[in-house]
Amino acid sequence: MAPTVVVRVHPRDPLYLPMHTVLEVEDLTKCFGKICALKGISFTLCSGEILGVVGPNGAGKTTLINCLLGLVLPTSGKIRYFGKDFFRNRSQILAKVNFASSYVALPLSLTLEENLLVYAHLYGLREPRERVAEVLKIFGLYEKRKRRTRTLSSGQMMRLCLAKALLNHPRVLLLDEPTAGLDPEVAQKTRDLILNYARQERTAVLFTSHNLAEVERISSRILVLQKGQIRALGKIAKLLEEFEAESLEELYFRLAA
Ligand code: ATP
Repeated sequence: MAPTVVVRVHPRDPLYLPMHTVLEVEDLTKCFGKICALKGISFTLCSGEILGVVGPNGAGKTTLINCLLGLVLPTSGKIRYFGKDFFRNRSQILAKVNFASSYVALPLSLTLEENLLVYAHLYGLREPRERVAEVLKIFGLYEKRKRRTRTLSSGQMMRLCLAKALLNHPRVLLLDEPTAGLDPEVAQKTRDLILNYARQERTAVLFTSHNLAEVERISSRILVLQKGQIRALGKIAKLLEEFEAESLEELYFRLAA
């Protein structure tokens, strides 16, 4: 299936940037025995777009990201990246995708630099040392590069995971609670970085968060999940109008709580 192209402004406008559909999820279902974490969900994601996924504990957010990474095999449904079937083109696709999660730690016995160099080589980067230094500097970890990863605090570990996530200049970035555990300054820096990545590199970002203010600040659209089903999907302003809600908080409590 050819990727859809959405024209954002008139092609003669200097700001013209075509938005390509980079991810299509169709009728995705994942059941763990009798528990169905995802029940037939469908959505698309375009280049340069930031999709905020919100929902209560157990709504299916992490399962969705794990399915999109191929870590969990869906029970049924389709996932296409860049117009190609994910399961038939897995390694080719994963070379252009990356992720970070507050629930995943990198190997503790390696130094920060060694950990990132392993990934840099896996991604086949041409100048691995330079790129590793670059991403470590972005997240203020360069001075700690020779330290063992086990000496990091949980917030620093999240920063290292985020640095890893940018290594291969991903076209799709999947972030599971990217600012959980970060101090306010680094959390702010991370949000700015996500925005800049989406705007300048046209990376498509799907992130989950329980911080509604954060979701409101950086999302182009939101997806509200509850018990494995989509309760709402779209631009926040439009959804507030549609559901006659005053704020994202009100909308959330009405749909997801
Ligand atoms: P949270 O906000 O707490 O991180 P979540 O929205 O990410 O929650 P998931 O972790 O995707 O939710 O879990 C969705 C449902 O699937 C839950 O009922 C959970 O218990 C169940 N689940 C997830 N992984 C497994 C598994 N490996 N085996 C069995 N059940 C699972």
